[in-house]
Amino acid sequence: MPAITWDSKLAAVAGKQAPKIEKAFGYQTVGELLGHYPRRYVDKGALSDLGTVAPDEHVTVIARVVDSQLHTYPDRRRGGLAYRLEAVVATEQDELTLTFFDKKKHLAQWRERTIAPGRTGLFSGKVGSFRGRLQLTNPQTKVFGAPAEGGADQAAAAWEDIPQLITIYPATSTVQSWQLDEAIALALDLVDDVPEVLPPQVRKARDLVPARQALEWIHRPETWSQKAAGENRLRFDEAFITQTVLAQRRAELMALDAQPRTGRSGGILDRFDSRLPFTLTAGQEQVSRAILDDLVAGHPMHRLLQGEVGSGKTVVALRAMLRVVDSGGQAALLAPTEVLAQQHHRSITALLGDLAAGGMLGGAEDGTQVALLTGSLGAPARRSALLDAASGAAGIVIGTHALLEEAVQFADLGLVVVDEQHRFGVEQRAALTAKADGSPPHVLVMTATPIPRTVAMTVFGDLETSTLAELPAGRAAIQTNVVALSDHPDWLERAFARIREEVDKGHQVYVVCPRIGGDRSDSPPAAGDDSRPMAAVEEVAPMLAAGPLSGLRVEMLHGRLAPDRKDELMQAFAAGDIDVLVATTVIEVGVDVANATMMLVFDADRFGVSQLHQLRGRVGRGGHPGLCLLVTGAPAGTPARDRLDAVAATTDGFELSRVDLEQRREGDVLGASQSGRRSSLKLLSVLRHEDVISQAREVAAALVAQDPDLSEHPELAAQVRRLHEAERADFLEKA
Ligand code: ADP
Ligand code: MG
Repeated sequence: MPAITWDSKLAAVAGKQAPKIEKAFGYQTVGELLGHYPRRYVDKGALSDLGTVAPDEHVTVIARVVDSQLHTYPDRRRGGLAYRLEAVVATEQDELTLTFFDKKKHLAQWRERTIAPGRTGLFSGKVGSFRGRLQLTNPQTKVFGAPAEGGADQAAAAWEDIPQLITIYPATSTVQSWQLDEAIALALDLVDDVPEVLPPQVRKARDLVPARQALEWIHRPETWSQKAAGENRLRFDEAFITQTVLAQRRAELMALDAQPRTGRSGGILDRFDSRLPFTLTAGQEQVSRAILDDLVAGHPMHRLLQGEVGSGKTVVALRAMLRVVDSGGQAALLAPTEVLAQQHHRSITALLGDLAAGGMLGGAEDGTQVALLTGSLGAPARRSALLDAASGAAGIVIGTHALLEEAVQFADLGLVVVDEQHRFGVEQRAALTAKADGSPPHVLVMTATPIPRTVAMTVFGDLETSTLAELPAGRAAIQTNVVALSDHPDWLERAFARIREEVDKGHQVYVVCPRIGGDRSDSPPAAGDDSRPMAAVEEVAPMLAAGPLSGLRVEMLHGRLAPDRKDELMQAFAAGDIDVLVATTVIEVGVDVANATMMLVFDADRFGVSQLHQLRGRVGRGGHPGLCLLVTGAPAGTPARDRLDAVAATTDGFELSRVDLEQRREGDVLGASQSGRRSSLKLLSVLRHEDVISQAREVAAALVAQDPDLSEHPELAAQVRRLHEAERADFLEKA
């Protein structure tokens, strides 16, 4: 028999179960199977003693099945049949009834085969009582070994065989926990070549056990401290491999040459600075300096600039663009929406004044041109924008996805700025940078969705990160209140009255709805308990105009309007010709109207935490305090309401992005990824393991500096390759 190795096919240890395991979890090799870590451990010594449990307590018991009966009954609610398996299990002292309900026949039959008399299992759930007898309904179950033919003797032997710490693996209805147990145990017994990715001195310096030992201890611990030591080691590996990939990417960038953009004194940047109507904040100064340094370093800049909504990222980016223009190059600014691209074009043109009219009558001698390229341009405007970009007449080209099209060419693209980078994929960034012929352009990506430091290190670790922490002076606080209609239905009237007050003071108001309206087809199905249709722009606007806000100038803005109309509306709102703008989230990113002081969000529970934070950043920009009202029907104590309360409680975007991530993670844990689909991060949480990540980053950077292509670390190189492949597979799946 050939030796069984890390890379052997799964069937070598899983036999006939291999196809089922592969289908359920995607594992093809023995090594991948060994990466299937237990979800939970149960201490045999800490199992519940049935003599002392009372109803409503949570218990975990080991017991032998003595009887099981499958019953079929008509399902009155859904029609058809439903299934109930009633089993009696015996512990050393007592008996307990288990009841399992199933809606699908094959599941019920599978359960009947699993919970079969003679078998021993672990059952966990909340104790109820039925006809004077303790009972568990739909308990979590782990049955040990194949069905025992014999009686009590064999059951007793089975009990002896059960380890002190019982592992519970993520399982499915087709692959049972004990089948995974068996295959994994066999693999641990047979496989000798567990890859060791950590250099011994790194391992020892951090007191980490060898990889082989770690796997043994995570799958078959004798004590809790073994389990913890195994986990620590394998968690470090996850961080280390990811950080190695990122360190390599950074090194690759460093190895590329980019044209230094040194600018010149007395050029357009200097003239711009001298006429800037405000003083840069210390943060803006500092980040600007870092960026200008990057631009002369001789390698392509690759920098992430994050900063709260309104923290003044645009000016920082503009200064970088002007430096490139001063060096004879061009800059492209990519925005995610038409509204935002137009707004950037307007505000940058305004900031530049006659510097933006280079080569034109009345323009500054030293100036340049700012071109706008969006999908909605008419043919002549488009032709002239394309020409200005290709000839180099436009030093700055602002646009949407339209910038990525083949027809768009630059004379000398030196800098790519991507606004709200989370709206764009890596491929789109690449499509734009590819438009520079010769050396690669510098890249600056900006985001107002704050990214916790560790996430930035993990997800964007190939970027240098800068943060604008302070808001420019004169930015007033935003107060956020939750308007809970389930508790106070009359508060909506008061909210409308508040809008009127705000307008009477000469200010403007946004009203945000989750839906456009008209047909219902754009609305996702309402979540379970809430069958009320979501607020729609096309219904709310006329309702407000005719009722509570009659006499005010109310307009609608949403994605289905013609681009010209959208632009016209935004201009009118910016000019103060509209009092109340009822809109969808088209206003979410970047829209900047200083006189808007209040926002009311209908069905606020339908939006994500970060999205609400972005939305409310639209108000309070002009030195007047902002007010944001989050209207919801969600009752107190529901997760939806908790989320809104979190948004109301803090304006710290970093704190909120943590809340958001935690919730999404929660969703993942309960959803698809629980089945253990190949994820490279199983033990590492980017939120909880900051210290592990930064240590691993340090180690990886040092290692890559000394051995860039990992030729002295073949095992690590193999894992890195595997991660690349997984990423590529992910990408292909998405494409
Ligand atoms: P964001 O970071 O959300 O993109 P912007 O760059 O749009 O923020 O800036 C928001 C507003 O603040 C703009 O009107 C901009 O002109 C203004 N601004 C930027 N920096 C300063 C500053 N240092 N002092 C005062 N106002 C500033
Ligand atoms: Mg912005």
